[in-house]
Amino acid sequence: SDSQFPVPLSPAEVDWSEHFPSFFSKVPGAGLEGPNQEKSNNEGGEASKPKAGMRDVVVVGTDGQPPPAVRFADIGCGFGGLLVKLSPMFPDTLMVGMELRDKVTEYVKERIAALRVQNPGRFDNISVIRTNAMKYLPNYFRKGQLTKMFFLFPDPHFKEKNHRRRIVNQGLLAEYAYVMKEGGLLYTVTDVEELGDWMKRNLDAHPLFERLSDEEVANDNVAVLLKNVTEEGQKVERNEGQTFHAVHRRIRAEPLA
Ligand code: SAM
Repeated sequence: SDSQFPVPLSPAEVDWSEHFPSFFSKVPGAGLEGPNQEKSNNEGGEASKPKAGMRDVVVVGTDGQPPPAVRFADIGCGFGGLLVKLSPMFPDTLMVGMELRDKVTEYVKERIAALRVQNPGRFDNISVIRTNAMKYLPNYFRKGQLTKMFFLFPDPHFKEKNHRRRIVNQGLLAEYAYVMKEGGLLYTVTDVEELGDWMKRNLDAHPLFERLSDEEVANDNVAVLLKNVTEEGQKVERNEGQTFHAVHRRIRAEPLA
């Protein structure tokens, strides 16, 4: 069902090596804590108990460096078209899709697994997580971690009383700003004009985001793809629908006067 999936207590608890095995090595940790095994506050609490042997193994990057971090998140990734497109463009960047629907997530998992089998050494940098991104982003990402966030064709929630359920809203923008790095880019695309206006208005009004100029957007090699790179975008294109898009940059907070 859509109501049950595991949620990590904090980003330190996510084992990304399961998602991106070729980017990680497991080395003996001599019982010491590894760089990615920060202590959680409730040490000793039932939920935070380390798995047996966890500290005997440290997960590091393949060159013995600290483990790499996910930098791009596709929120409500649907069938994963964006991840598949971006993977070869940024082969060294880890990216993850977040999707609420179980069956759709399973499809994306299988799609990525098949791509990896058919193309050895490729598509190792993309993965998918089934979760409610409106609730659990800070459980997965640290402050300032993400350099790109994507919201492509989010559900419109047309009725006024449902606008609070929209995935780009004032409250959640604070959370997105938190997980984004300064200078990082947040991309929104929709075929619903009213929703496009709404997302733009909310982002424009937020003190931690500024909108890129049309010229900057035209020069952004990712922004120019977004109209028809996903399954939803292709559907809109087939129906000759219009799309409305914006790119906003995460900026530094103005010091209080
Ligand atoms: N971005 C994809 C595309 O362009 O093809 C999918 C667009 S589809 C209209 C919106 C997707 O967002 C759906 O797959 C839906 O399950 C997902 N979604 C809605 N709310 C979500 C949430 N809170 N967390 C994660 N995914 C969500």
